[in-house]
Amino acid sequence: MGRRTGARAGGDGLEARAIAAVRRALLRWYARTARDLPWRRAPDPYRVWVSETMLQQTQVERVCDAFGRFLDSFPTVSALAAAEESAVLRAWEGLGYYRRARQLHAAARVVVAEHGGRLPEDDGALRRLPGIGRYTAGAIRSIALGQPAPIVEANSRRVLARLVGHRAEVGGAADEPLWQVAARLVPPRGAGAFNQALMDLGATVCTPRAPRCPRCPLLGHCRAHAGGLTGSIPRLPRPRAAEVREETALVIRHAEHVLVEQRRPGEWWEGLWDFPRLPASGLAGLRPGPPHEIGRIVYTVTHHRITLRVVVRRAARRTKLAPPRAWVSVADLAGLALSSPGRRIARMLADDGTEPPPRRRSRYVPAPGTTSSSAREKKRA
Ligand code: SF4
Repeated sequence: MGRRTGARAGGDGLEARAIAAVRRALLRWYARTARDLPWRRAPDPYRVWVSETMLQQTQVERVCDAFGRFLDSFPTVSALAAAEESAVLRAWEGLGYYRRARQLHAAARVVVAEHGGRLPEDDGALRRLPGIGRYTAGAIRSIALGQPAPIVEANSRRVLARLVGHRAEVGGAADEPLWQVAARLVPPRGAGAFNQALMDLGATVCTPRAPRCPRCPLLGHCRAHAGGLTGSIPRLPRPRAAEVREETALVIRHAEHVLVEQRRPGEWWEGLWDFPRLPASGLAGLRPGPPHEIGRIVYTVTHHRITLRVVVRRAARRTKLAPPRAWVSVADLAGLALSSPGRRIARMLADDGTEPPPRRRSRYVPAPGTTSSSAREKKRA
């Protein structure tokens, strides 16, 4: 972006005329090329909130699949607030990072209890809700409410950094200069379209590797392109090295039932059901037979790469279990909110000759002998 005498420019060097030109170019491009995504068809605050929460750390294609399913189960904030956590987690399957689902659920309850079931419209009140940060609040305010609120997420951050030639490292607090650029660029009218255009441009044209600059509406304004710096901007923090480890999952089986346990607070997949990991205590009373390995699963959680050995042991009897453990039939695994490796083990069991029925959507089948979380809450009350 060139400098002009007499034009007001911030620390990023953006002058008023260039800002107007960037807005125009981006909005025209978006009018021609906007992606048809399910949550864009009726962008009310609830749908924008759900979709933006899903889109954090999850690819658009996966979110497209999950969004409609989630909205069918929980069409309103009130419906989400009234749901059991296990049903919300079940509907979240396939998206990972379940903390987002728990926070969405907790925030829905606050919205119903404190805001009459309507999402608040101001930045401070939105950001006091569990799981809503600066980005999500900006997306809700701009896309659903038309307020001129800036956003910075992975795609828009890349576009903004390249546009202004921002050479410093980005990420977390280091994104502050880019938030300032975004705040100067977002137009007073059409903020939602502008922010979505930024994200679309980053997703489809200004990609991490080999950006398609000749097709970019911002080509004439872009400092990274002009300076041959698209390969080095944005400068991302060095990724943490993966920690490799091996674990063993234990499938204790008695006839058509298997033993599952619910992940405790603070554990990965908190609130979801899974198979016990070795070493597992408190199983002596089952008098399980010798282990029989049925396969291995490799998966990644945060920066851990885990090889999970899956062994089956036949129990001599089905003893009474106390929560968080329960017996559940192999058929009912399909309706249970399982962790991601737990779901894969359930499929292995199906291949082992006991096929679970097709997955039931968002339906939680409490395991025999257990009490659902909402029932426990009612009992406590
Ligand atoms: S010109 Fe190239 S680097 Fe610059 S914003 Fe467009 S696609 Fe990205």
